[in-house]
Amino acid sequence: MEVSGRHIVVTGGAGGIGRALIRRLSEEGARALVVADRDLAGAQAMAGEVGGLAVELDAGRESSVRALIDEATAAHGPIDVFISNAGVPGALGGPEAADEAWDEAWRVNVMAHVWAARALLPQMLERGEGYLINTASAAGLLTQVSSLVYSVTKHAAVSLAEWLSIEYADSGVRVSCICPQGVRTPMLELAMEEPVGAAALASGGLIEPEDVADSLIEGMRDERMLILPHENVAGFMAFKGSDPERWLKGMRRLVRNARAADSNSA
Ligand code: NAD
Repeated sequence: MEVSGRHIVVTGGAGGIGRALIRRLSEEGARALVVADRDLAGAQAMAGEVGGLAVELDAGRESSVRALIDEATAAHGPIDVFISNAGVPGALGGPEAADEAWDEAWRVNVMAHVWAARALLPQMLERGEGYLINTASAAGLLTQVSSLVYSVTKHAAVSLAEWLSIEYADSGVRVSCICPQGVRTPMLELAMEEPVGAAALASGGLIEPEDVADSLIEGMRDERMLILPHENVAGFMAFKGSDPERWLKGMRRLVRNARAADSNSA
């Protein structure tokens, strides 16, 4: 799908990757852009820059996702492309993370995509056209060693996109899932504070939010389900698929080495 002339909503559009997506979609000639974020002032600043509509959103509540869709539709007509990009890092560590952290990550990283699909699919199926795009992560394909919460919820987000893509492709509804590794945003800064996460992210190479926007435009043009801004992720997936035990050994080694280097430097 070409962006030109389209009505596009981006959640988490006030910062990081979302902001770069909005700027690029504007350059590509989107007809109407909606910047939705829990940071209303940030959304307003971004919307002001591109002549878009700012909407305050809590992506972790279905009523708020529905209200966003209603407001965007009332302002600009049917939504052509909905980019469910808002995400939260969850908590570092494993199953000991508090239920509150699990709950927030399930809601924002997974259910927000479900709620958007639930609200939009009936009208998209009726029109025989529409595009649902979710930002998941390479953590949803390969595992994020520093955070079980993030890894599990991003795996669920990838699975959701795959399911939708299989089910609805023949009805004219396109689905894409963006799966970057490390991207220089405020969320990454947090992950880089933890030595194991920092080692894993750095090993994949860090890119800029604008690089993710470039990949999105290419991926949309090809209507590709899996959009991988980091070239090496496809190779890591192939390796994991071809020899999962060897891949796990490599991941364990990466964790051990990062912990040893951290304790030596302390
Ligand atoms: P970020 O923290 O820089 O920006 C996230 C934006 O989402 C912020 O503007 C924030 O206000 C908004 N947001 C957070 N929770 C919200 C909620 N409940 N309701 C509405 N808005 C909310 O993060 P980012 O790095 O730009 O992340 C964007 C997406 O990319 C996320 O889904 C993230 O998981 C994913 N991602 C990021 C990286 C990375 O390295 N930065 C890598 C892979 C995937």
